[in-house]
Amino acid sequence: MAASLYIANARLVRLGVGDALSPGGVLVEGDSIAAVALTPREEAETRARAREVVDAAGMVLMPGLVNGHYHSYSTLLKGTQNSLPLEPWALYTAAYGRALGAEAIRLAVLLGAAEMLRNGITACLDHFPHTRHVEAALTAHEASGMRVAFAPFMHDVFDHEFLEIALPPAIRAELEAAPRSDAAGAERMYRDLVGRWRGHRRVTIVLGPNAFQRCSRSLTDVWRRLGDELGLAAHTHLVETEAQAERGRALWPGGTVAEMERRGLLTERLSLAHGIWLAPDEAEPLARHGVTVVHNPASNLMLGSGRLALAAMLERGVPLALGTDSSNSGGPHDLFEVMRLALMLPRLEMRDPRAWPGPRQVLAMATTGSARALGLGGFLGRIERGQRADLVLIDTGRAALAGAPVTVPHLVQHGGADAVAAVMVDGAWVLRDRRILAFDERAVLERVAAISTELFADARPGIQLAEAAAPYFLRQAW
Ligand SMILES: [Zn+2]
Repeated sequence: MAASLYIANARLVRLGVGDALSPGGVLVEGDSIAAVALTPREEAETRARAREVVDAAGMVLMPGLVNGHYHSYSTLLKGTQNSLPLEPWALYTAAYGRALGAEAIRLAVLLGAAEMLRNGITACLDHFPHTRHVEAALTAHEASGMRVAFAPFMHDVFDHEFLEIALPPAIRAELEAAPRSDAAGAERMYRDLVGRWRGHRRVTIVLGPNAFQRCSRSLTDVWRRLGDELGLAAHTHLVETEAQAERGRALWPGGTVAEMERRGLLTERLSLAHGIWLAPDEAEPLARHGVTVVHNPASNLMLGSGRLALAAMLERGVPLALGTDSSNSGGPHDLFEVMRLALMLPRLEMRDPRAWPGPRQVLAMATTGSARALGLGGFLGRIERGQRADLVLIDTGRAALAGAPVTVPHLVQHGGADAVAAVMVDGAWVLRDRRILAFDERAVLERVAAISTELFADARPGIQLAEAAAPYFLRQAW
C-alpha cells in the first residue's frame, strides 16, 4: 500500500529560509512529499489526512544527502594501496577491480549502501567500471532501497597512452591486454539498459565515460549522440591531476574543456568529477552551459591530487555538488565529513572571511547540487511539496549534536552517522531505529568477510603487474 504518513513535531531543514530550522511536519503520500505544515493549523489539517503518524519530537528532519560521485566496487577494497598519486594508484584499483566476480559486485553495492544509509545518504551516482557486471550491480542497487543514478564506464584510451608514459614493451603489452570499449558495443549497452530500466522509480541510467581523455573520437560521438537522442545525463572524471590538464592543453587548443565544448559535450545534463586543475578561464564555459562540477575533497587530498578552487567556482556560478569517490581513495562514504572539508579547505587561501563558503552552501551542494549531478535536479534535495520523499531523521539527543537548538551550521559541523536515526527513500523507510530494513545487512557483512581473502588472492597477478608498472608512472614528473 502506498505510504500515507505524517512526520509530526520535527524541526525541518529548509535551506531557502536561512540557518534556523522550522518547527513543523511533513506529509508523505506515495513516493513524494504531499504537504509541509508550518503552523499549528496546517499541522492539524495535514495530520488529519494521514493514515499513520510518526512522532519526531526531538528530531531534525533533513533532505537525504546525495553522493554525487561514487564507485561501488571500491567498498571491498578498504585498506588497499592509497599512498600513491592517482595514475599509479589507478593501476592497483583496476587490478583489484578485475578480480571481482558478479557475487563480489553484488556485495560491494550492498555494503556501500549500508554505509551510505547509515550516514544519511539516500541517493548516489555509481560511476561503474566493470561493465561485464552491470546486471549484478543494478539488481543489488534495486535491492538496496537507495536511489541510484547508474553510470557504466566506457573508455578506450589508457592513461599510459594519453600521458605518453615510457614503458618496457612487456609491461605495456600486459596493460594493454585489459579490455577497451568499442563504440558499437558501448552504444548497445546503454540503449539496452535504458530500454529495460526506463521508468524505474529509483534507478536511472546515466552515460559514464571514464574521462574525456580516456575516450577516442568514436566514443565521444556515442556520448554526444545518445545524450542528445535519449536525453540522458552524463557523468565523467575531469582534470583530476596536473599531468592530465597539461597534456590536455598540449593536445587540444585551449585545453580539455575547450575541446569538450567543440565536440558538443557541455550541456546542463553533464556532471564532472574533480576539476581540480581547471584553469580560471575554463570555469566560464562550464557555468554558461550549466555543467555541474562534483567536488571530492577527501579523495583528492588522499591521492595528493590537489583541491578544487571551490570559492572561484561558486563566484563564477558553476553548479556544484559533493561526492565521496572510492573507499580506497576518499575513505568513508560520509558526506558530513566531505561537507566539513568543503567548508574548511577554501579558508586556507582566502583572506577575506566574507568570501568563505558557508554551511548552507555546502549542504545545498550535498543535496540539490548533487541531485542535479545525478540528472534528478528539481526532484530531490528539498523539503517541499512535490519533491521525492527521500528524508533523514537526525536524533539531536546524541552526544555529538546535543547543545543549543540545532541550526544548519550546527548540523553541518556536528552531524554524522551516530545521529542518523531513520532514513526514507521514495516514501519507504529503509532504515529505522538504526536498523536497515531494505536488506539483510548482517548477511552481507558475513559474506563480505567470507569472500575477501579469496578476492585478494585472485587479484595477486594483477597487483604484481601494477607493482611493476607503477615506478614508470612515478618517474614521469608531476
Ligand atoms: Zn572517481
